Amino acid sequence: MSKTIYVDNAATTPVSERVLESMLPFFKEEYGNPSSIYSKGRQAKDALDEARQKVATALGCQPEEIFFTSCGTEADNWAVRGAAMHAAKKGKKHIITTSFEHHAILHTVAALEKQGFTATYISPNSEGLITVQDVASAIREDTGIVSIMYANNEIGTILPIAEIGKLCREKGIPFHTDAVQAIGNLPVNVVKDNIDMLSLSAHKINAAKGVGALYIKKGTVIDIFMEGGAQERTRRAGTENVAGIVGLGTAIEYAVGHLEERTAHKLALRDRYIDTVLSTISHSRLNGSRDKRLPGNTNISFEGVEGESLLLMLDMNGICASSGSACTSGSLDPSHVLMSIGLPHEIAHGSLRVTFGDQNTDEDVDAILDVLPKIIERLRSMSPLWEKIVAENR
Ligand code: PLP
Repeated sequence: MSKTIYVDNAATTPVSERVLESMLPFFKEEYGNPSSIYSKGRQAKDALDEARQKVATALGCQPEEIFFTSCGTEADNWAVRGAAMHAAKKGKKHIITTSFEHHAILHTVAALEKQGFTATYISPNSEGLITVQDVASAIREDTGIVSIMYANNEIGTILPIAEIGKLCREKGIPFHTDAVQAIGNLPVNVVKDNIDMLSLSAHKINAAKGVGALYIKKGTVIDIFMEGGAQERTRRAGTENVAGIVGLGTAIEYAVGHLEERTAHKLALRDRYIDTVLSTISHSRLNGSRDKRLPGNTNISFEGVEGESLLLMLDMNGICASSGSACTSGSLDPSHVLMSIGLPHEIAHGSLRVTFGDQNTDEDVDAILDVLPKIIERLRSMSPLWEKIVAENR
């Protein structure tokens, strides 16, 4: 097969033509440093300001509340560590998060635990959801920050962020959300959603890798993350990735401005794929809620199948997908997200995440639906477990 079918858009997305066009001048003639006072520097500074305005408009906040970072991971690290360190000065050393966050959050919280903080990890239910009551029950006198993702990167479930934000606001606890998968896929508004801090990443919305942003609501005080310069109003030092940030501005303006038609497009692909797979391949199950789910996300487990082999065989057919989070590939442990919703190891291992993006077509879905059942059948025919699974279910 000659054409590559890329359906791993939760891992990253291709840079769109419009984003690339907007970035190119900043690699060529407009190469000034935004901190320089001559005109080339001012041009770059103007471009940063324009991108900051676009990000702010997309989130429903003020441009002064947007801080550019090197990625979503940095934004997550900064928000959680910065808020926790600030709260600790007032004796508040308890952190609330969930057990199925991205590792950018989980590893940051684990590092803080080693430094004397305590943490409560809320477990999602079997649908991959948590409730505002779960958060209410976890809150303590010494809770200094709550960090809960907007939507999960593996199973696509959407959490009740506006309600959780309202609760945290009432309790006076800073609330951060990792919205890396939500921005450009859901209608996010930091004011309506009662959010104090929000992380996003450019490469999930058809812009470049290595660019992110952290929204920090005016009045929310968190410790500085990177020292060494006056950039980002002295709160995040380092010469800005001007081209990357300009691309983020272009991408977020388009993604949010065309949310409705983009969502309808992905929903149609997603739903046809899920319905067909579940109805034609036996012993398959959808992981995560069917309704409260990102428009492009699918995550299906196939009993008697080993995820790595499935990915390799899909790859031989030109199909790029994922068996868990791409960020954790390299590890053969089952995904912490699938374990958190209670899947047994062997079923978690046979999961396939197919995530659709703007560029995918009906023909892509047809091509996957053509080869997937054959691959599953072949893998099951080679599996020592498969006969046992069938016999037990008879
Ligand atoms: N948070 C979530 C939910 C993600 O899905 C990812 C990336 O997959 C990140 C954070 C990290 O973003 P970045 O790749 O920009 O560091």
